Amino acid sequence: MEFELSSEQELMRDAARRMVQQVIRPRLAAHDRTQALPKRVFLEIFDAVARLGLTAPRLPESAGGSGIRMVDYGIMFEQIPPAVSMSILSQDSCISRIYAEATQEQRKRFLPDLIVGRKIGCTGSTEPDTGSDPRGVKTRMTREGDSVVLSGRKMWITNVSVCDTMIVTCVDAAQRDAKRRVVKVIVEREHSPFEAREIEAIGLDQGLLGEAVFENCRVPAANVIESERGGTHVLKTSWNVNRPLVGLQAVHLAQQAFDIALEYSKARRAFGKPLAGHQLIQKSLSDMMTAITASRLLCYRALAQIDAGKAADGASAMAKRFAQTACGEAVWQAMNVLGAMGLSREAGLEQMFRDIRMLPIPDGTNEILTLIHARELTGIEAFRGVGA
Ligand SMILES: Cc1cc2nc3c(=O)[nH]c(=O)nc-3n(C[C@H](O)[C@H](O)[C@H](O)COP(=O)(O)OP(=O)(O)OC[C@H]3O[C@@H](n4cnc5c(N)ncnc54)[C@H](O)[C@@H]3O)c2cc1C
Repeated sequence: MEFELSSEQELMRDAARRMVQQVIRPRLAAHDRTQALPKRVFLEIFDAVARLGLTAPRLPESAGGSGIRMVDYGIMFEQIPPAVSMSILSQDSCISRIYAEATQEQRKRFLPDLIVGRKIGCTGSTEPDTGSDPRGVKTRMTREGDSVVLSGRKMWITNVSVCDTMIVTCVDAAQRDAKRRVVKVIVEREHSPFEAREIEAIGLDQGLLGEAVFENCRVPAANVIESERGGTHVLKTSWNVNRPLVGLQAVHLAQQAFDIALEYSKARRAFGKPLAGHQLIQKSLSDMMTAITASRLLCYRALAQIDAGKAADGASAMAKRFAQTACGEAVWQAMNVLGAMGLSREAGLEQMFRDIRMLPIPDGTNEILTLIHARELTGIEAFRGVGA
């Protein structure tokens, strides 16, 4: 068992930090902090992200990816502000799903531009009426000769407002076999236009989260992913990587909040000494660092299990849920250490407080993750009762 980063991992972490300092932070600072960054800016960022191999970390080098270990991906991903890393994760998910499920011909058509960050991708499963339960998807795909026609709505989709390529989960209206009813279609917006807009939410203000409407959207039938595995296998593997990554987004925010609280508590004085000299403030700092360290280790461990080819359903569910809860509490405590200043826009903690509230929802809510973990522990499926 090894708890220290190797020198190679330190180099990867430092490269990601440099990219954040030189490319991402200046762009976040130069734009309205209450609005999504423009597409042009995301493309500039994706160019830098692609150079670090972070648009396609799950693809082997032979397929144009970086083929890095997932734990190394996690170490680099953790350095990136979540308003941006959420978009990187969406791009990566779109790429890995096409790679895992699509035909060679589809891979050749869609992957190169996405991998180098020339095009922006996203994956749309969630709809106004269904999120946690993918069997509730209503967006319909109807076959018409050489085309398929999509009708429906997708909601809470990262990147959708500016995307060029979208994987849309829908139901094949003509399919009787329940396992093959859910299909995915790769929609190129340039050739198959659809309406999309940003949704205002509590946090990740400069990030991209939106909805899309498909009204008789015609797509070449050659864009349908006719996966033998019905998509669920890849989706599951993909979620198992995504969950600890979203956990590491929470770690990023909590670590930043801790750093601010520590510095402030040494500078600010109360009752004749620095705040940091008061025992209850010391307890807050200790609690925060315990939460951050435990969350980080659980997330790295889940990713290491995936690298080792082990089943990681429980480990990844546990890591994400713990990190959201523990790091959310840590950000709250950091705000408290700064008193009224913690509530100010100037200190930046209120933004982290709002951002971290977004993270328990994507890639499995806390409730769903609890059930996944407990299913592994007990061997009993709690999701559906008889007849459900
Ligand atoms: C920042 C962000 C990014 C996102 N990005 C994407 C994306 O790129 N693509 C995409 O398709 N979606 C995306 N989503 C949507 C996200 O995946 C869904 O919101 C999520 O799956 C939950 O679905 P829901 O909101 O419909 O909640 P519901 O499924 O309606 O659940 C509502 C509440 O009920 C609870 N619940 C549901 N079922 C059970 C149960 N069996 N037992 C106990 N409690 C239960 C849930 O935990 C939740 O608290 C994103 C969401 C956010 C916030």
